[in-house]
Amino acid sequence: MSDQLTGLQSYEEFVPKLKKAVSDMPEEASIAIVYSDIKHFKYFNDTYGYRRGNKLLARMSEMFSSGGEGFLGGARVVSDNIVCARFCADGDEKVFLDEIKASISYIEQILRKEFSCERIRMTAGVFFIDAKAKGINVETAISNANLARKQSKLDGNDSVTLFHPEMASKIDSELEIISTIDEAINNHELEAYYQPKIESGTGRIIGAEALVRWIKPNGTMVYPDQFIPILEKSKQIINVDYYIYNEVFSFLRGRLDKGESVVPVSMNVSRQHMKDLEIIDYVRDLCDTYKVPPQYLEFELTETMCTERTERVMEFITAFHEMGMKVSMDDFGSGYSSLKLLSQIPIDVIKLDRCFLRSRELGDREKIIITNIVHMTKELKMRSLCEGVETSDQSTFLAGIGCDEQQGYYYSKPVNIADFRQLLVSGCAR
Ligand code: C2E
Ligand code: CA
Ligand code: CA
Repeated sequence: MSDQLTGLQSYEEFVPKLKKAVSDMPEEASIAIVYSDIKHFKYFNDTYGYRRGNKLLARMSEMFSSGGEGFLGGARVVSDNIVCARFCADGDEKVFLDEIKASISYIEQILRKEFSCERIRMTAGVFFIDAKAKGINVETAISNANLARKQSKLDGNDSVTLFHPEMASKIDSELEIISTIDEAINNHELEAYYQPKIESGTGRIIGAEALVRWIKPNGTMVYPDQFIPILEKSKQIINVDYYIYNEVFSFLRGRLDKGESVVPVSMNVSRQHMKDLEIIDYVRDLCDTYKVPPQYLEFELTETMCTERTERVMEFITAFHEMGMKVSMDDFGSGYSSLKLLSQIPIDVIKLDRCFLRSRELGDREKIIITNIVHMTKELKMRSLCEGVETSDQSTFLAGIGCDEQQGYYYSKPVNIADFRQLLVSGCAR
């Protein structure tokens, strides 16, 4: 019954062995089920061939088997997956998990060396069966470890993830988003909403930010907080951003063609774009296609992006400035902002994060901080915008200290294109 190609035992052979091990387990002991795979295994197979791929899997399993005392060897489940179990005599979960992590990183290093491939990386999900969980169906336990492995892949950061009960529903909804977004884009289910930016003191609309909304075929609206963070873990976010950019360019082009008034519109840039900066050529092509004058276009980078990838961000800003567009720093003050960064990065607009206006009544400390950031922005010859303005008092205060622009529910929520057209007709949001 063993796997013909790798010589590993099969899942069917493994399950009864595991069942027996669980029922024989002493009170204070525990068993960890480790469900593991090689990241980008398909790439390895395509590059080196299936025989070598199978050798890699067989070796991975062999290493697991030799990696600890009382070890129940690995079974190959499907293509690139291997499940195995390990015993811990005294059942301290944390120590045990650290041990498993260490074994996995050791196995990873050996495989890289033996197969001369630095790209080999493993992911694993772990499920513990202790005395309390002894009655669990082992197949359920294995599939829980598998869920943890999938979560590990979705998160893309930690190579070993421990199962917890909320994972099942979380993964379901994440996978649903990941697997349906491309179709949603093709079906034009995404829509750009516009939130006006207001000139302090006059109430005039002097710009807008485009914010994505996902309108499902049944009419329910999905807000970006529910899907952007999930898509941002991979390159899938790029198509969402590009979709919105196209909407904005086409909206502006349409108004220019009809001789209607236009204001600059800013678009959000996800951190994924900083990996290859293909966005520069993409936006250049959009400019060629739509011929929208660059002064109507602005791009928002987040503060954390600027700290993490300063060099790429510099390249981005230089290219966008050369095209004649403005770049703003979004959510300023929400992360570990370094003031030094401001002296290095030639940003045009600072958008103060709405966390500064969290309480509707502004406290003295908040007032001091906002005032100083606004003054500093002025001295650095940048413009300042405060996000999340919800009350008349806040708006008066901001106008008083010389904050250039404001954005928030006090003036308008993000609205659909039809409502935004109406706002542009009146020119004011209140
Ligand atoms: P953000 O860029 O900070 O956008 C501003 C968010 O604050 C928007 O939420 C907006 O509706 C909300 N907001 C504006 N004024 C107020 C206010 O007075 N009070 C409160 N409580 N909230 C206010 P939204 O539209 O849900 O967007 C959430 C985040 O999703 C955005 O935060 C942005 O980071 C991201 N996002 C939205 N559209 C896109 C997109 O096309 N691409 C990418 N990469 N990210 C996007
Ligand atoms: Ca933004
Ligand atoms: Ca923001």
